[in-house]
Amino acid sequence: MRFIFPPSPVASIPIIGSADRFPVHRIYCVGRNYEEHAKEMGFTGREPPFFFMKPADAVLVIAAGETGSMPYPSLTKNLHHEIELVVAIGTGGKDIQAADAHKHIFGYAVGLDMTRRDLQNDMKKQGRPWCIGKGFDYSAPIGPITPMAQAGNIEQAEIYLRVNGQDRQRSNVSKLIWNIGETIEHLSAAWELQPGDLIYSGTPEGVAAVVAGDTMVGEVNGLGTLKVKVA
Ligand code: MN
Repeated sequence: MRFIFPPSPVASIPIIGSADRFPVHRIYCVGRNYEEHAKEMGFTGREPPFFFMKPADAVLVIAAGETGSMPYPSLTKNLHHEIELVVAIGTGGKDIQAADAHKHIFGYAVGLDMTRRDLQNDMKKQGRPWCIGKGFDYSAPIGPITPMAQAGNIEQAEIYLRVNGQDRQRSNVSKLIWNIGETIEHLSAAWELQPGDLIYSGTPEGVAAVVAGDTMVGEVNGLGTLKVKVA
């Protein structure tokens, strides 16, 4: 087959302990999946999980030990950090039951769901899609993927984000409203999951703005540290 121009390269993520890379298919994100974050966004109570997407090439891939550089995006004056546990799907499927979800997981990574909060809020008010607030270029910084067997008990792991050495977000994955299995059950009822899908599982409380020059350091215990400087 010939193309009229070269196809875009496949976005891919390094894997801890392997020279092979994880090719990205889609990026799914879960909204308001920690109670204290839902509250700070003005919502209470357990609602069914809901999802949005980012383009696969929105990943900003940061190798172990490196500091990524994220360009400050256009159109916003309120760029927010959301530290998240990212689930990497290795085996696809649809209508996956929560109890079987682990069979579909390749591994985990630390990610940031960067958000143009002012634009997202405008879209919310008008009942319009969130794409411009969530799916912009470089909006999905991510560290290397740790294979599931080496990740330890990720469902009980501490998750935090510091900006310029100060705590901004600190919680525990056990506080997810919809845990990883339940999230995969709901997600795979709506879309057939494919190998290469990433799921940003939601952020705990403490989301706030960063500006050019800030350095974000985030971690989910067992997955190493993610370091990103806003350029
Ligand atoms: Mn998020």
